[in-house]
Amino acid sequence: MTTTESVSKKERDGCKGCSADVKVTDEQIQRLISKIKADACVTDELYAKRLEACGNCASLAYETTCMHCGCLVQVRAKLKDKGCPHPQQAVREQWDQSTKLMLTK
Ligand code: SF4
Repeated sequence: MTTTESVSKKERDGCKGCSADVKVTDEQIQRLISKIKADACVTDELYAKRLEACGNCASLAYETTCMHCGCLVQVRAKLKDKGCPHPQQAVREQWDQSTKLMLTK
């Protein structure tokens, strides 16, 4: 079985066109994160909140990829100037609320 065959139709539905070959390892993600300058990063606490929101989102594919922007959420969530691209405000607010809570502490 090829890598592509191992991805079910359900996993592909709703995706902008990504396929299994875009799956990345934790090591690859950590390598990308390590290249982000410290002053561009959110706090560890906010990072965890954002990832928690992504983990509960139906638009997360392969446990790594946002189906709306194609970003690796583990990288996007680390960046201060990024938000959630979900078309529904209620979902975006989960990220925004996390951010607001952290900024008002
Ligand atoms: S739509 Fe927002 S909450 Fe959902 S996976 Fe993308 S960034 Fe995360």
